Amino acid sequence: MTRTRRRPYADQRPRDLGGGVSSVPVPIPGNPLGYTLVYAIDSPAGPVLVDAGWNHHDAWQALRTGLAAVGVDVRDVRGVVVTHFHPDHAGLAGRVREESGAWIAMHEADAQLVKLMRGLGQGEHHDFQSEMLRRAGAGAHELPSIADARPDPPAQPDRELRDGDLIDVPGRVLRAVHTPGHTPGHLCLHLEDAARLFTGDHILPDITPHIGIYPYDRDDVDPLADFLASLDRVAALGLTEALPAHEWTLPDAAARAAEIRAHHEDKLERLAALVTEPLTIWEIAARMTWNRPWADLSPILRGMAAGEAAAHLRALEARGLIRRLPEVDPVRFVALHS
Ligand SMILES: [Zn+2]
Repeated sequence: MTRTRRRPYADQRPRDLGGGVSSVPVPIPGNPLGYTLVYAIDSPAGPVLVDAGWNHHDAWQALRTGLAAVGVDVRDVRGVVVTHFHPDHAGLAGRVREESGAWIAMHEADAQLVKLMRGLGQGEHHDFQSEMLRRAGAGAHELPSIADARPDPPAQPDRELRDGDLIDVPGRVLRAVHTPGHTPGHLCLHLEDAARLFTGDHILPDITPHIGIYPYDRDDVDPLADFLASLDRVAALGLTEALPAHEWTLPDAAARAAEIRAHHEDKLERLAALVTEPLTIWEIAARMTWNRPWADLSPILRGMAAGEAAAHLRALEARGLIRRLPEVDPVRFVALHS
């Protein structure tokens, strides 16, 4: 994610937003993103949460006490609809389910990824990462150590959602809007009876969500094109105020969608100008502008930067502006006519 401005978790409070919707900030320990905003939607059959927060003791305490502050007992939660499988959103969903017997719902594409992750041992995960980094041109010293921990995969959802599905919130109309890009199964949730949109990580007020491609050298998907189409989709809903999963309430979702689109178009243009000779994904990522110099990025951040570079390269390739050289390993990209 690109960060420019931040408000600390310590300044956040649970808030009653009116119309039977509340927000609870849940900390993400040790992460500069600070907190996830978990939303509770009242219904006569018990509240339904949008996202749940990171799976950590402090986050769990903050979720419980924050919900209590807006009049919700976590043991009464009817369901948790997860915008996407990332650990700062889905992490605590399993804990809520244990506590209250809630269902967990997620888009089927992300549910599939959860299943894959849950089936992968630490060793297999490490091998997948190493091979992906090697094919991108990372040096042997940059490959992850077997000891590198990954967060526990989230709980397997009980319900799988598709675009247009109504979520089980009796007395209210909450619809799944499939917005792939940040993840293949990312959902925005449209509370139609209150003209409110929960945008998850799809549209955030000040930062832009990470758009990556994994493994980096895939050529059968185009997540950035998906993401740009999903921005148009949300803008076309014609809603103004939106409720994202981080930072603060968005005053104008369509205007922010246009800004995020411009950010990516600008990045694509600068990237196309950079690929004047055949370069690996790693070499290209190292030459791009990030919020810190490449040399100062941790291995995890370098990996994310490479994923972001790869998604933009793939979009340029799909638009016919660059090509990948045939049968080279690691993969190399070059401008179409060089
Ligand atoms: Zn995310």
